[in-house]
Amino acid sequence: MNSRTPKGVLRFCWAISLAGMAVFAAVLAAAPALPVEDATFWLLTAGVVVAELFPLRIPRRGDDEAVTIATTFSYALLITSGLPAAIVVQAAASVIQDALVRKPVWRILFNVGQYTLSLGAAALVLHAFAALPVMHGLQGSSLETADFPAVVVGAAAYFLVNATVVGIAVALYRQATVVEYLRSDAAFIAMLAAVLLSLAPVVIASISYSPAMVPLLIAPFVLVHRFVRQSSRAQHAATHDSLTSLANRERFQELVSATIEDRGERAHFAVLLLDLDRFKEINDTLGHHYGDHLLAQVGPRLSLAVRSTDVVARLGGDEFGVLMRDLPAGSRTALEGAERIRAALSQPFDLDGFVVEVDSSIGIAMCPEDGRDIETLLQRADVAMYRAKETHSDYLLYNSDYDHHSPARLALVSDLRQALDRGGIELWYQPKLDLATGAVSGVEALVRWEHPTLGMLQPSAFIDLAERTGLIKPLTHRVLELALTQRRAWLAEGLDLLVAVNVSARSLLDRRFPGEVARLLERYELRPGALKLEITESSIMADPIAATATIGELRTLGIEFGVDDFGTGYSSLAHLRSLPVSELKIDKGFVLRMGSTAGDAAIVRSTIDLGHNLGLRVVAEGVEDADALALLRELGCDEAQGFYIARPMPAPELGPWLSRHRERSATVTPLDARRRLGEGR
Ligand code: C2E
Ligand code: CA
Ligand code: CA
Repeated sequence: MNSRTPKGVLRFCWAISLAGMAVFAAVLAAAPALPVEDATFWLLTAGVVVAELFPLRIPRRGDDEAVTIATTFSYALLITSGLPAAIVVQAAASVIQDALVRKPVWRILFNVGQYTLSLGAAALVLHAFAALPVMHGLQGSSLETADFPAVVVGAAAYFLVNATVVGIAVALYRQATVVEYLRSDAAFIAMLAAVLLSLAPVVIASISYSPAMVPLLIAPFVLVHRFVRQSSRAQHAATHDSLTSLANRERFQELVSATIEDRGERAHFAVLLLDLDRFKEINDTLGHHYGDHLLAQVGPRLSLAVRSTDVVARLGGDEFGVLMRDLPAGSRTALEGAERIRAALSQPFDLDGFVVEVDSSIGIAMCPEDGRDIETLLQRADVAMYRAKETHSDYLLYNSDYDHHSPARLALVSDLRQALDRGGIELWYQPKLDLATGAVSGVEALVRWEHPTLGMLQPSAFIDLAERTGLIKPLTHRVLELALTQRRAWLAEGLDLLVAVNVSARSLLDRRFPGEVARLLERYELRPGALKLEITESSIMADPIAATATIGELRTLGIEFGVDDFGTGYSSLAHLRSLPVSELKIDKGFVLRMGSTAGDAAIVRSTIDLGHNLGLRVVAEGVEDADALALLRELGCDEAQGFYIARPMPAPELGPWLSRHRERSATVTPLDARRRLGEGR
């Protein structure tokens, strides 16, 4: 039997099975023969069986949940054909379905037991309140309006018994209390039961009116079935990585948080972080295509190596996460899991004829021992993973000693969380110049963190950490809030400055991000054209399909997009053309070197042409001297940004800078502008 199922659950399930079986036997002993010559009996039986065979898979906060609409038909069967018919048919249908999906015997029997008890409870109520003949059913006579209250109370009894029995089993399994389980799920279960059970009288009335009504009844069920299938496919696309089909980071974090919430004090699980040691090398030497190929093969190997209840996710790049829930033997089970993963990945990979071997490092953090919230757990698994890399261990369980090796990283996480709550995050702004007119075309918002002891921190000190620990989401939110507040304030001063905000790859993969941006624009009463988002080329390429979808959604809100750090990723021309962006930003590396290296100058020149041919504006960043600015003008670059023009500055300094800039350029720009116009652009 299943050694991972807690003993308490098994005991409880056997008790319910036995109780159900006793009721089953007693009812059948006293029962008349089944109404086999009755058409209604067969129609409803068909309903129960078909509904059991095609459960709806409803995507919920935790896992997908299989929901069957058989209840509608079995409750109808109870009323029209009596309790014996209802429990026999329901038992047969559920055994067939459970056996088809290979549920263990104890679960098959438990289901029969709980259905029998629920139907039995409903029958008792129907008998007591409406004096309906529960052993024989209505047998062709119709349901009276006066019977309706009893039908409702009977349904309530069915629901109560069913929810309690299933609730206790789930609660025992999750090692939570029934109350905790019901609280997390009660609204959904009650709503579902109310709908399914209240359909029973409708089914009865239709059939007794004419069996020809049956196809009309089936139509809406089929429709619902299709809708649910469709929406769960859409949901799947939004929550899974398109390359590996594994859950994405958002989904992973959601599942970890749901596990913490559902299990409450009894939460007992492990978070494993894994990254491939030689991935970058493979990507760089063999190319992007082979890198993708490798990642696509890692996914299935991971999924096969873990238990069916575990969740494998691709967190980004070559980083994977595994959530191991309900660990009976604690960290031992987690270490065994890590060992299986290591073994699975140690076999060579065949990438279109190139055979490569990859090593992986795994870091493990346990809940509750190492933390009770997602950020701490991810961060500690990260510390353990780094330690595993340093010591060339395959996997390591987090240990607070490792913190000595990365004390700064550790402290920063909790400091950053505090800064997000209490303040300390601010934005500096760097102007962008329109090279044709010399006017300021907008500003880029760059995040800064005024740390209480470390002083002013640059993004390189904390963005990566925020991304790894899930804090990037609140951080991006804060940055957007600050940028839009500033934009509003400038508008009030009569300054119409387009603000560009950098968003990380994570936001691009978050299906809630477009809604979040829309709400913020509304809150600050700004039209969508007020905001530009910059996304790096490599973050688009991490999951081009998902990124394109998010960008498309935000574009319909009227938000402009620029591709940042262009030239450092691997985007193909075909891809670039299909992206709904309006700006290319040449990576500062090329711009900084273009004065000294011919190759870089050529890249800058051809990127400008490429951008223009695609109908995009081209911006050069990293303009550090007058020569660079002059060359870019000559090459027809549209905008420039860099220390030579202005360094990033706090918002209050921008007004004075703008005035100085206007004075300076009043003498220079008209000439330049004329020259550009003279070239006929
Ligand atoms: P980025 O988007 O490429 O931003 C431009 C970076 O280049 C800024 O660094 C800016 O200060 C710097 N820079 C500007 N002009 C010059 C120049 O002439 N020469 C040189 N050498 N550098 C110049 P910063 O502010 O340190 O930001 C670094 C990166 O951090 C940004 O690169 C961006 O990717 C990321 N970042 C900044 N703010 C945010 C944010 O709010 N959210 C996210 N997700 N990332 C951000
Ligand atoms: Ca940028
Ligand atoms: Ca850049």
